[in-house]
Amino acid sequence: MDMPEVIPVCYCGNSAKLNTCWSNNNLGRRFFGCKQFGSGFRKSCRFFSWFDPPLTPRLRVVLLGLLKKVKTLKDARKREKRTWFLVLVIVTVLLFSKP
Ligand SMILES: [Zn+2]
Repeated sequence: MDMPEVIPVCYCGNSAKLNTCWSNNNLGRRFFGCKQFGSGFRKSCRFFSWFDPPLTPRLRVVLLGLLKKVKTLKDARKREKRTWFLVLVIVTVLLFSKP
């Protein structure tokens, strides 16, 4: 992966942290933000700077399509597991129920 040559300094005076954005409009696009952001202990500054160029509309559609597919597969797998669990319960009940 390509790494930044120069790491910007945020308003707190720390070197900024490289994060990845997961919103639909900027999927996988990396940005610099305050190291303190989201840590909850100290107030973080509002430093924000994109590192990657914006997604092209085409790439965005392709990425969203792929994510949707992954989600569909995960859901199907969950349903499958649930079904097998139900089968197991029914078989157990049948096995241990007295005639
Ligand atoms: Zn900061």
